[in-house]
Amino acid sequence: MLSLEKIYLAEEIANHPLTSKILQKTGFKPQILPRGESSPLPRALWEEGISLGKRILYLTRYQGRFFRRCPGTKAYLCCGYHIFHIGQGCPLDCTYCILQAYFNQPWLTFFVNVLEDGLKELQEALSRFTFLRIGTGEFTDSFALEELTSLNPHLIEFFARQENAVLELKTKTTGIDHLKDLPHRRRTILAWSLNAPSISRNEEKGAPPVEERLLAAQKAVSWGYPVAFHFDPIIRFPGWREEYAQTIEFLFEKIPPEEVCWISLGSLRFMPELKEIAWKRFPETKIFSNEFITGLDGKKRYFRPLRVELYSHLYGLIKKLAPHVCVYLCMESPEVWKEVFGFSPFSRGGLSRMLDEAAQRVCRIRSHNFRLAE
Ligand code: SF4
Repeated sequence: MLSLEKIYLAEEIANHPLTSKILQKTGFKPQILPRGESSPLPRALWEEGISLGKRILYLTRYQGRFFRRCPGTKAYLCCGYHIFHIGQGCPLDCTYCILQAYFNQPWLTFFVNVLEDGLKELQEALSRFTFLRIGTGEFTDSFALEELTSLNPHLIEFFARQENAVLELKTKTTGIDHLKDLPHRRRTILAWSLNAPSISRNEEKGAPPVEERLLAAQKAVSWGYPVAFHFDPIIRFPGWREEYAQTIEFLFEKIPPEEVCWISLGSLRFMPELKEIAWKRFPETKIFSNEFITGLDGKKRYFRPLRVELYSHLYGLIKKLAPHVCVYLCMESPEVWKEVFGFSPFSRGGLSRMLDEAAQRVCRIRSHNFRLAE
């Protein structure tokens, strides 16, 4: 998955122990950027440099907030997720990846001070909350740089000591064997993004096929980890009904429903500028060929009846095979919830609460009945 060409280091972390471990694994001679210089690529290459950036790793010290609320959007129902920010950028190359338009720095960045500074900040934050769901896969894939950083075992052991939080590691990859014997206490949820097989084949370059992801999930379950799945983005194409059915049937052939914390459904949505960038990079793609409307968050999305049709089909299939699994919609309105599920999350105490309860049930955590304000 990783095919690096160059590593840059911020001068101040050149002697950091994690930097040395990473460099040992790559065998690269890094280029050191002097203090105050934070751009490995000349600005002129930024826009054209997305593909190049996936082969460049920048190791640095993060001075911002590692722990933060997921940006979400006020226009749609948000799930109350929090982020632990370990780095940004991804060596995989999905046509629809929002990161192509989101960051103006196309290289892969990893914060080597994540263990000492990040976990300290996280520990303090946890004392202010009753219960939290936290993920690292918001601005990267949670396993994007794992073969170099071996970060996840540290996070899993940290969360195993917590009573009021679960960690969700979201990925499309399958390199999880080093997690086998960890004392995780079911406080880490291993989550896979899934899609129709042909979307995975054609639009998720560098990622293993969905069947392999589900075999990795099956292994995780055999090691006692709770799991979760994200069908996002769900895409319309000829044959979508049959192909999503194929993935869902394979999922429940391999995974017992009682081990699944949640399944999210989110249809294709994108900032208008992403379409231009993605079309230039992947001229053969057809995923932007439908008609789209502009949503309340300024992103393009399918017309509402088409979204409802997608969700209803996938939800029907899931409910048939796993009637008790928590299914939720990502970035949708209460009206769409009602059309798809027959209820809005408000009638069940809100989406955050629904997901907190699902996490506590599947991760076997004593229930926490209220959430403190941030
Ligand atoms: S795996 Fe996620 S972060 Fe990586 S390229 Fe695909 S969509 Fe982007």
